[in-house]
Amino acid sequence: MRIINGVKTISGLLKALWSMSPSEKDAFYKDKCEYYQGIVELSLIVACLTTICFIYSDYMINGSVLPTLIPRLSILAFIAVFFIVTGISASTRVMVVMDFFLAHGMVLTASWTAYNLVDNSNSVTGIIIVNLLWIVIGFVSRPEDTIINGFVYIIEIVITNQFNHYTNYDVILSLEIPCIIGIMVVHYIMTAYYLDHYRVTQKLKFSMVTDPLTMVYNRHLLEKIVSGNTLKLDSPDELISLAMIDIDDFKKVNDENGHYTGDLTLYYMGQKLLREAHAEDYVIRYGGEEFVIILRNCGIDDAYKRMDKLRDIIENAKDTPVPFTISVGLSSYTGDYTDALMRVDQALYKAKNTGKNKVVVN
Ligand code: GH3
Ligand code: MG
Ligand code: MG
Repeated sequence: MRIINGVKTISGLLKALWSMSPSEKDAFYKDKCEYYQGIVELSLIVACLTTICFIYSDYMINGSVLPTLIPRLSILAFIAVFFIVTGISASTRVMVVMDFFLAHGMVLTASWTAYNLVDNSNSVTGIIIVNLLWIVIGFVSRPEDTIINGFVYIIEIVITNQFNHYTNYDVILSLEIPCIIGIMVVHYIMTAYYLDHYRVTQKLKFSMVTDPLTMVYNRHLLEKIVSGNTLKLDSPDELISLAMIDIDDFKKVNDENGHYTGDLTLYYMGQKLLREAHAEDYVIRYGGEEFVIILRNCGIDDAYKRMDKLRDIIENAKDTPVPFTISVGLSSYTGDYTDALMRVDQALYKAKNTGKNKVVVN
């Protein structure tokens, strides 16, 4: 019963995975790689260093460590290349390729070692054990990578056999093919399970920064931007303006029409702001009926025009739950969000004290 449920769950997740758009898939695999790369990298490095310890079993076979010392130590060169390349490139795709590179480094140094052993009848064990590495790399790779890697590995075995003449060559090949098929199936299952985790974390990340009533960003995001004073600028001289928008006499809206209509008005306001804002802007619910917009690539004159147009649209809108107006405080960001927020707040205060339904710049 449990196995049937497992199959149903996995097939549902795999269908969802296959129906993703290429960009969604890229984001998913990037996330999966970022989540697991640390542990995969650690496992591979430990495995690489362990192969150096096999010098003792080489000694037991050859009666000397000398013939296999250099082949065994050559894994250090693969580790060095791995760290240099992954240090230069932060791309997750490069990381996955380098994980495979390191594992194949182990295969090649082990084959070179086998060439220097008087008896390589234990190679079959080593060749099958390497499949554990492919399973580990499956945590960061795409399942399709396993198919390509499977072919590469078989070719590697065929080529190294030309020098090593493995004692059980036919057995090795007949074992390796079902192993690769099995690993491919395991990788699809692992990937599907990660999709489950990915969806939950995406939802969690979304709800952490989203206001559930208006569906715009919530104050968490603003706090993050303000406390870190970080917002990736398109260019060092990108102009940013801040607007604080407050619904006029909102208390009256609630008192005269009820809280439900008040909520509908807030939802309307959030959606309107999202439609009027540009894609790169941030629309944030700051508090009760107050919203902040971070207007990207927008100087103060342009911001004034846009906000006054918004004020006018809302004043004359026919589709609002109840008619209402807004007041807007505006200021330009000059490197400090706390300061910019203080200035928009003062501007909004001025708009409220000088008749409301207007835009004031500070
Ligand atoms: P002003 O023109 O000076 O801004 O007056 P105002 O009435 O809009 O401002 P005030 O700050 O006095 O009232 C804000 C009201 O917003 C009070 C509060 O009940 C209401 N409010 C805050 N959050 C919500 C909410 O989530 N839903 C509803 N329906 N009302 C809310
Ligand atoms: Mg108000
Ligand atoms: Mg208010």
